[in-house]
Amino acid sequence: MKIMPNRLDRGFELYQQEFEEKALQVLRSGWYVLGREVEEFEKEFASYTGSKHCVGLASGLDALWLAFRILGIGKGDEVIVPANTYIASVMGVTINDATPVFVEPDEYYNMDADAIEAAITERTKAVLVVHLYGQACRMDKIMDLCQKYNLRLVEDCAQSHGAFFDGRMTGTFGDIGCFSFYPSKNLGGFGDGGAIVTEDDKIAEDMKMYRNYGSRKRYYNEVVGANSRLDELQAGLLRVRLAHMDELTEERKRLAVRYTAEIKNPKLILPQVREGADSVWHQYVIRCKDRQKLIDYLNEKEIGTIIHYPIPPHLSEAYAYLGWKAGDYPVTENYADTVLSIPMYNGMTTEEQDAVIAALNAF
Ligand SMILES: *Cc1c(COP(=O)(O)O)cnc(C)c1O
Repeated sequence: MKIMPNRLDRGFELYQQEFEEKALQVLRSGWYVLGREVEEFEKEFASYTGSKHCVGLASGLDALWLAFRILGIGKGDEVIVPANTYIASVMGVTINDATPVFVEPDEYYNMDADAIEAAITERTKAVLVVHLYGQACRMDKIMDLCQKYNLRLVEDCAQSHGAFFDGRMTGTFGDIGCFSFYPSKNLGGFGDGGAIVTEDDKIAEDMKMYRNYGSRKRYYNEVVGANSRLDELQAGLLRVRLAHMDELTEERKRLAVRYTAEIKNPKLILPQVREGADSVWHQYVIRCKDRQKLIDYLNEKEIGTIIHYPIPPHLSEAYAYLGWKAGDYPVTENYADTVLSIPMYNGMTTEEQDAVIAALNAF
């Protein structure tokens, strides 16, 4: 039995008829950009997260860079970002010419809240948290710090749709919560998509202007904006999936509980969830000192895995100009050398999970 690290086709098959009906309905409607489906999705996603506003966008990266743009963060400003994240989080900052200041992760892979204060300078304008692998960051402590130092807070929720901290959904703590609906995300579409959520009327209005060439009124352009509109087809298909989000999240949690209970191998370090936090298990990430051996062993058994992520942003060629070098963020670098995401997807069968567990225990 061949097992892939992720199976997007299963997510489609779960609600195939609903997706197909919705797709046909949109195709036949004659309206393909910024119409009723986007408006309805925005209402439904705002309500799902418990936010006042949602604004649909073309991608998660757009959500991030537009968030900092609208908050007026740019050249000369510093933004505190997790060293251990997907590089898109950092790009959201650097596209605006602001400077990322990295903070090392805790044992839950998220930015270590106790290390943030030491990274704050006179130029710090904002904190970007990333709820990595689906687990909420330590938001009580981070909110306190942002209040104490009068910092803006942006949340990268590209991996945490539906994850709570202390009863409140990720995305609703900061000034702006940024989401991606890339197909492999927990709430994934069938192409690119993104959104922000916010309580702030002005931020929502500005975002609607920015996503449409900086125009509130047709052919009147206030700023150099972007073309970052969520399209009707994606919005319609996302509405179908959103209606099933609770059961999809429950399924991932069941898969994770079973992995945690049944993987028993002292060579492997299993993921932990912080007290008060919640994970929606975007990835189930283990660590292993002999990672390459483990990957090869699993490959022999036709079990696929992925490394999230092999090169941390500070060592990426894209950020060579920032001047970081190996050894600057040792915790992050150690994670990059040892983490491995094992198969985790909606529609995973018991037999598939049995095979993964058996292989990991036999390694
Ligand atoms: C996927 C992802 C993004 C980018 O989202 P896109 O829709 O692909 O632009 C940003 N941050 C994190 C943490 C992600 O996982």
